[in-house]
Amino acid sequence: MKKVVLDAHVEIDVNLPYYFERDPEKRAKRLEQEASDIKDFIRDHRSIDVHDVYVVREYGWKCEHCGWTNEGEKEPEFPECCETAIREWATHEELVEFGYEEA
Ligand SMILES: [Zn+2]
Repeated sequence: MKKVVLDAHVEIDVNLPYYFERDPEKRAKRLEQEASDIKDFIRDHRSIDVHDVYVVREYGWKCEHCGWTNEGEKEPEFPECCETAIREWATHEELVEFGYEEA
């Protein structure tokens, strides 16, 4: 499989210097509030400390043979998307089991 860019999105990194929240859901809620403030800022040109705006590429794995994509961090060891991919890792016994070859 080949590592490819599956998608991209823009993230805005907000400065929260005195804010520390370990609970992921509470942190998400707090960031949603910040995001709402940023939208107000863009509308009103109000002063707010936006740290950065950058594009995040979402990497994944793409089968060269059939185009199937997988969003995981690690390359799938035994992709079953198509016969060509299966033939790259399967043993003769497994190919017989999957019905691609005669015993
Ligand atoms: Zn494939």
